[in-house]
Amino acid sequence: MKLEQKIEKKIERTLSKVKLFKKKTILVALSGGKDSATTAYMFRKLGYKIEGFHIDLGMGDYSKRCLSAVVKLCEILEIPLYIYDIKNEMGSSMCYLRTSIQKKHFEKQRGEIKNCAICGVIKKWILNKRARELGFEIIATGHNLDDEAQTFLMNVLKGAPELSANTGVVTKNILNKKFIPRVKPLFYIDEDEIRKFTLEKKLPVVYEGCPCLIDSYRKQVREWIYKNLTTRDKENLIKNFEKLQSRMKSIKSSELVYCEICGEPSRGGVCKKCKLFT
Ligand code: AMP
Ligand code: ZN
Repeated sequence: MKLEQKIEKKIERTLSKVKLFKKKTILVALSGGKDSATTAYMFRKLGYKIEGFHIDLGMGDYSKRCLSAVVKLCEILEIPLYIYDIKNEMGSSMCYLRTSIQKKHFEKQRGEIKNCAICGVIKKWILNKRARELGFEIIATGHNLDDEAQTFLMNVLKGAPELSANTGVVTKNILNKKFIPRVKPLFYIDEDEIRKFTLEKKLPVVYEGCPCLIDSYRKQVREWIYKNLTTRDKENLIKNFEKLQSRMKSIKSSELVYCEICGEPSRGGVCKKCKLFT
């Protein structure tokens, strides 16, 4: 079977489990990378209505290349694109935000806080808020099998596997009207296959990794997985974890409340984004 067909079949199977409606327009979070480009390409091919969403993180040339790749992709796929500039959203570029947050955490002796953790929290916060304001009821991201295996292993190694309790192809919270559900169509697809696919299709994609992924724990786990685990191992890891998930859910409450500071969905009194800034 051709790679494109193989990926398409896997995505169809994944989406059939989550009953995604073709009538509803999906907002695809596009980073400029191969995963979100594949997500958008395949949604279009499968007849879903989609629109693109990109946050310009203001990280020099790298961000400029990402923005240009996203603009080209949306032209090819003939879909509208919403672009948000982090400087308008949060007051400064991601590099500056990270440095000031890390400095403050260090001064207050709150321990180390990694680049990717800060960036991930801020991106999710903007994405959820803006998608809701734009009237979307579902968001899609490009997370793949390797991302999911990494996150799961990192949580296990941290001694907190329950942090993965609410992850899956769909993340939703029916009790919280402000939380826009997210779907990950590439949940079971190996990163190498996605890379080969976008190269084969010559999709406009930035292949270099984020310049801020230095010395991160995720990077170490990612390299270990790449060197030591086969696709089958990664699939088994995720599938075995899914078997345990229903039991974990009873341990960790999935109830979301609203942040006391910004009013966005939160697991505690103050959301993760606002905690970074206090
Ligand atoms: P990452 O957090 O870089 O691992 O990216 C995970 C997913 O989040 C990507 O596949 C995209 O769907 C989304 N994403 C990451 N960065 C951006 C961005 N700058 N703008 C919009 N979506 C993004
Ligand atoms: Zn908040």
